[in-house]
Formats: sequence, C-alpha cells, structure tokens
Amino acid sequence: MERIIHNILVLGLNVDEQTRCAHYHGEDDVIAIKFRCCGDWFPCHECHAELAGHAAVPWPKEEFDAAAILCGGCGHQLSIREYLDCNSVCLHCRRRFNPGCANHYPLYFDS
Ligand SMILES: [Zn+2]
Ligand SMILES: [Zn+2]
Ligand SMILES: [Zn+2]
Repeated sequence: MERIIHNILVLGLNVDEQTRCAHYHGEDDVIAIKFRCCGDWFPCHECHAELAGHAAVPWPKEEFDAAAILCGGCGHQLSIREYLDCNSVCLHCRRRFNPGCANHYPLYFDS
C-alpha cells in the first residue's frame, strides 16, 4: 500500500520503485502526484480514490508553483507549472512521462 521512492512516501496499490501502480503500469507511467487535499503522494487518482477516504481536490491555479510532481525515474520534484510545460519529459533526467496523463489533468489541476 505504500513505498518509499527517492525518500518520498508514495501511497498506492502495487506501487513499484518508479511509481507505477496497479492502474497505470506502462513503461512511461513514472510520476507520482502530491494531492492538494491531503498533502500525500499517490501514483494516480484511482489510488487516491481507493485509499485516501476523501474526494480529491484539484490544485488551484494560484498554487501551480508547488512542487507536486515526483519523477519516478530520478526523484526530481517538478512544480505543477513545470510539469504542464515539460512536454512529458523530466526536466532533470529527460525521462519520458506518459503523455496520456494529460487526459486526466482536470482531476489534479484546475484548468
Ligand atoms: Zn487527498
Ligand atoms: Zn493507481
Ligand atoms: Zn527525472
């Protein structure tokens, strides 16, 4: 249910050492997200829904400078603004992130 990844406690189902989970476990599914509602890190919204016990709250635009994205490849933390502008590539290690995550941005970030 939880795993320490690059010194961050990530909560989720079947979390692997690069933040993949039971729901998203492709090669490039390697980010975890810090949720605004609880301050806890999860690999995905479904892990949050199953484990957190409360509804997720999207990050408001005024707080997009918060470091809320963890690269499972290198442990670098991106701000939400950096993540939204990174073209699905880690700014630090150049690891590819799943571009399909963009379909779910409204679950995590105000748009
Ligand atoms: Zn939460
Ligand atoms: Zn998940
Ligand atoms: Zn990285």
